[in-house]
Amino acid sequence: MIIIGGGIAGLIAARELSGVYQVIVLEAMNRFGGRIHTINEHGFPGPIEAGAEFLHGKAESTLKLLKEAGIGIVSVEGELCQTDDRTQDDAGNPGNTAEGREEESDKQWEELLTQMSVLEQDTTLLEFLNKHFGNEKYNSLQQRAISYAAGFDLADAGKVSVKSLYAEWSQHNEDRVVAGGYGQLIDFLVADCEKRGCELIKNAFVTGVGWGAGFVEVLGQGEMRYRAEKCILTVSAGVLQNGDIKFNPPIARYHEAATKIGFGNVVKILLSFDQQLWKDGVSFFLSDEEVPTWWPQPGNTAAVLTGWAGGERALALTALSDEELVEKALKSLSAIFNLDLMLIRKNLNSSKIFNWSKQNTVRGAYSYATPQSHDALKVLTTPLQDTLYFAGEAIYSGPDPGTVEAAINSAQRLTSQLRLVHEK
Ligand SMILES: Cc1cc2nc3c(=O)[nH]c(=O)nc-3n(C[C@H](O)[C@H](O)[C@H](O)COP(=O)(O)OP(=O)(O)OC[C@H]3O[C@@H](n4cnc5c(N)ncnc54)[C@H](O)[C@@H]3O)c2cc1C
Repeated sequence: MIIIGGGIAGLIAARELSGVYQVIVLEAMNRFGGRIHTINEHGFPGPIEAGAEFLHGKAESTLKLLKEAGIGIVSVEGELCQTDDRTQDDAGNPGNTAEGREEESDKQWEELLTQMSVLEQDTTLLEFLNKHFGNEKYNSLQQRAISYAAGFDLADAGKVSVKSLYAEWSQHNEDRVVAGGYGQLIDFLVADCEKRGCELIKNAFVTGVGWGAGFVEVLGQGEMRYRAEKCILTVSAGVLQNGDIKFNPPIARYHEAATKIGFGNVVKILLSFDQQLWKDGVSFFLSDEEVPTWWPQPGNTAAVLTGWAGGERALALTALSDEELVEKALKSLSAIFNLDLMLIRKNLNSSKIFNWSKQNTVRGAYSYATPQSHDALKVLTTPLQDTLYFAGEAIYSGPDPGTVEAAINSAQRLTSQLRLVHEK
């Protein structure tokens, strides 16, 4: 059994199939973990997360795995601090108080959720807003919904499924982080896979897969060539959509299905300061600045902030150099904290930028559901002649898409199917 991709989905699949098949994992990067990447960076007081950071929703499979690995979690505590247009002056309504506008905004948000809850035929957010909230009194609600979808789901409002957004927006679960970083989970899985006899190979960039019933030949850079009876692809939706791996014979229907799933991007900016310049007790700062969302390191008193610009905002920032991005980030913070830019700049100790769209083995951050995802997943979860299989974060239709939990569940769903087939 060959598994292409050594992110969490590939490692889970390898681990669970190790007693059944002789497993080889081929990973293009010089490390395992993919979009889970905890690093120790000079100038930062502790480990930082380049990719996955939070446990969203119930995250049952992730919690189970963390427990097995003996890794703890930390709750994200504090209030949301909102400095977006819900609380700022609105020239069109000079008589309104900030509190009044906030109350009205919350009322409209409830209206939106109610309307979403009764939607029968799934549609995109943009179509839905235009149909039900087209009146100009809903202008700021429209903006808020579009920027939530872009900011948190990294989703294009013209593509994202309203039903999937409703499933997420209507639940109120606490966020948590992994104490010491998600990377420990990868270390645990790598060690366990090796103990179980899996062959884990880094720097193995796959370029092509030749296949027929019961036979695969995987080709890669240099002279790389591996043969097996079966192959699981766990690469990101971005890699599938871009057609980075060539199949012989081609699998056009699967490629087309992958393009129907949404895949968004984010620019993540980590800043370490000499001292804390923001008030205590805030979990997230939300704003309309160019880098709109910020959070302090949960459970850590060190003066580290993470900035997050998703969707279209990420697109606008992608062409900038790291220096230009840091400058934009500092300007955003100056506006959010209402502090002098010079003071913020003077206190900056270190910075680190992560832009996953520039990483050619991922090509973005994570997936989101579209109204076509359901049909696309029917295709992608159907094995090709019991030989080629797909798993990974995007090949999943349960709650909390685009997460570590989704990747784990996707791999576990496939491996239990494969184990059943093998037992027959
Ligand atoms: C910035 C960011 C923040 C995130 N935040 C969160 C969060 O807070 N909480 C959460 O739950 N999730 C979060 N996620 C999503 C989460 O990281 C992913 O859903 C999950 O890690 C995906 O795992 P995977 O194994 O499916 O894919 P990947 O981790 O992408 O693994 C696929 C692997 O395939 C390899 N590969 C690609 N092409 C080839 C090739 N040609 N040959 C060989 N190998 C190849 C890649 O290098 C990669 O290692 C975040 C992601 C990003 C990028």
